[in-house]
Amino acid sequence: MSWRCSSASNEGLIANLFRHGLIKNDIVREAMGKVDRAHFSPVMPYEDSPQRIGYDATISAPHIHANAAEALLDRLGPGKKVLDVGSGSGYLTAVLAHLVTPGGTIVGIEHVRQLCDLSTENLKKDPVHSRMLQNGTIKIIRGDGRLGYPEGGPYDAIHVGAAASIMPQALIDQLKAPGRMFIPVDGGFSQYIWQVDKDEEGNVKKEKQYGVLYVPLTDAKDFRDEN
Ligand code: SAH
Repeated sequence: MSWRCSSASNEGLIANLFRHGLIKNDIVREAMGKVDRAHFSPVMPYEDSPQRIGYDATISAPHIHANAAEALLDRLGPGKKVLDVGSGSGYLTAVLAHLVTPGGTIVGIEHVRQLCDLSTENLKKDPVHSRMLQNGTIKIIRGDGRLGYPEGGPYDAIHVGAAASIMPQALIDQLKAPGRMFIPVDGGFSQYIWQVDKDEEGNVKKEKQYGVLYVPLTDAKDFRDEN
C-alpha cells in the first residue's frame, strides 16, 4: 500500500493517502495538508516510508502518522490537550496541534537533547508553527516519555511514537476521563498497537490491534553533536 502513496509533493502524498483509505477523515487530511513534511524529513519527504533523522531515530512513514491521527481523532478537537511521546522530528506534533486549535495544547516529549532542538528548528520553518511555539500551543519538553508530563495533563489524547517494553502506567494515569492513548507495545516476537481508552467513570479498556515496527522507547543516551 505504502509505495502507491509516495509522491513528488506534500499535496500529492496526502491525496494518495486519502485515495487509498489511509487517511479517512477530511479533518485529518486538512491537518496533514498544513504541515510540509519537507520541514521535518531531511531526505525523500514525500515517500511513504520512514526516514532516518539521526540519533537512532526515524520520522515515521506518512501512513503511520495518518493511522495515529485517525485513531485519536475522537478525542481531538478545539481546546483538547495532547501528549506526543517520542516526538522526534516534530512532524506529528505539528499535525496534532492543528487538530486541537483553537484553544488546545500539545506537549511533545523527547529524551534526546539534539532532537528537541532539531524539532524546534523544524517547527520554526513555518510561521504558523513558530507562532504555536511562541503562544504555548506547542511545547517541546526534554524528558523520559515513559513517565509522561503530569504538569501538562491530564490529556484527552496521548500518542506514543516508539515501542514500549511494557504498558506505561504513568501514561494511563495521565489520561483524562474520557481519554485515549495510541501506543505500540513490544509483544515478544513483534510489536502491536494498543488502544487504551479511559471512560467517563475512569474505567480503562486496553485493546490490542495490529502488528507494527517502531523504534523502541529506551533509556536516554548521550549523543555527540555530530551524530
Ligand atoms: N513521531 C516521531 C517518531 C520519532 S522515532 C516522528 O515521526 O518524528 C521515536 C522517538 O522516540 C525518537 O526520537 C527517540 O529519541 C524517542 N524516544 C525513545 N525513547 C524515549 C523515551 N524514553 N522518552 C522520550 N523519547 C524517547
